[in-house]
Amino acid sequence: MSAFHVLMLPGDGIGPEVLAVAEHALTTVCATGNFAIETTTHPFGGAAYDAHGVPVTEATLAAASAADAVLLGAVGGPQYDTVDPAVRPERGLLALRKHLGVYANLRPARCFPALAHASPLKAELTRNVDILFVRELIGGIYFGEPRGIDGPPGERRGYNTMVYSEPEIARIVRRAFGLAQKRRKRLTSVDKANVLEVHRLWRRVVDGIAPEFPDVAVDHLYVDNCAMQLATRPGQFDVVVTGNLFGDILSDEAAALTGSLGVLPSAALGEGPGLFEPVHGSAPDIAGQGIANPIAAVLSAAMLLRWSAKRNDLALRLERAVDDCLGAGLRTADLFTGRTGERQVGTQALGDAIIDALSTGPSRVAKKSPTVKIPRVGDATGGIQ
Ligand code: NAD
Repeated sequence: MSAFHVLMLPGDGIGPEVLAVAEHALTTVCATGNFAIETTTHPFGGAAYDAHGVPVTEATLAAASAADAVLLGAVGGPQYDTVDPAVRPERGLLALRKHLGVYANLRPARCFPALAHASPLKAELTRNVDILFVRELIGGIYFGEPRGIDGPPGERRGYNTMVYSEPEIARIVRRAFGLAQKRRKRLTSVDKANVLEVHRLWRRVVDGIAPEFPDVAVDHLYVDNCAMQLATRPGQFDVVVTGNLFGDILSDEAAALTGSLGVLPSAALGEGPGLFEPVHGSAPDIAGQGIANPIAAVLSAAMLLRWSAKRNDLALRLERAVDDCLGAGLRTADLFTGRTGERQVGTQALGDAIIDALSTGPSRVAKKSPTVKIPRVGDATGGIQ
């Protein structure tokens, strides 16, 4: 049987630092599970722009289609702020998502018990938080036409179009129902149907599909109410399905509940190869210092194993190794609070500890991992917008 092929796209900033850890963890866990895997690496985002003048080349798009899955670091950086918007790093990401047809963005927001104190909410509110956001990724207002800015200076109009067709809504909603069926069987659909026609259609499609999944309880929430309930009663949510714009905002809000962007993975799924990437960006403020948190990238690799390789056993093993390291008190700078039992480590040391935990378990992890003397950086959650 041929090996499972993963295209690695490290990207920019901390992308290559965290993806190196994720690749090591992925290949190690696959070796322990006798699962043949091979990887190739392409420059992407700003790195591709520097090398080829475009954020994603045709060769990379072809390699992504031919792979079984794609694992991405992050793209972007201040040095690209002034380049032509058509070739900015973020455009490469949108082009890749569109090319792969990955319409379903899965973003789990789960509070790690070891990090309960890192949440801005009271521990009793976050204790049981385990939400799966299912965000439509390649439609809605981010892609709708017409769009633009026109008119003479002083009287210009800026406009975008939020548009969803019935088939686009139906495929994301069916996928969300299917995911809810495998979890706690509760689906919340989020819209603004009291104001927007596109969401009146969204709601009708959800209600039309619901009878196909009689074991799943479905409810509808307006987006403003959902934003409030996420902050006041986050434990009530199981699977949340919504469009591109609201999903972008709400999943970041839910991310804040877990304490750090550095621990949040994501998957983007369509009918072909899946695209897996940390939720965070390229973090130019800490790039090159060896202090980035690699957990989001490692957990993205776990999602790759679960959703594309269909090896839930290996995904769980990787997730347990991360839990073990957090449980043993190992913290990168973004999570370090100086509490008793915590030890501050760098990217590489945490990566080594995760590899170690894959084979030896948590007790040895705690003993072996060296403490790294690193100056505290600013609160990593500060940048979530
Ligand atoms: P960011 O996620 O890069 O950083 C926000 C804050 O969180 C920063 O303080 C950063 O140091 C911290 N942080 C992020 N990931 C971390 C990690 N793994 N470990 C420790 N701390 C971490 O968001 P930003 O600063 O708004 O954007 C920086 C660049 O990244 C921009 O060019 C933006 O366009 C790009 N971006 C890319 C993606 C992507 O590739 N999917 C997503 C968001 C932003």
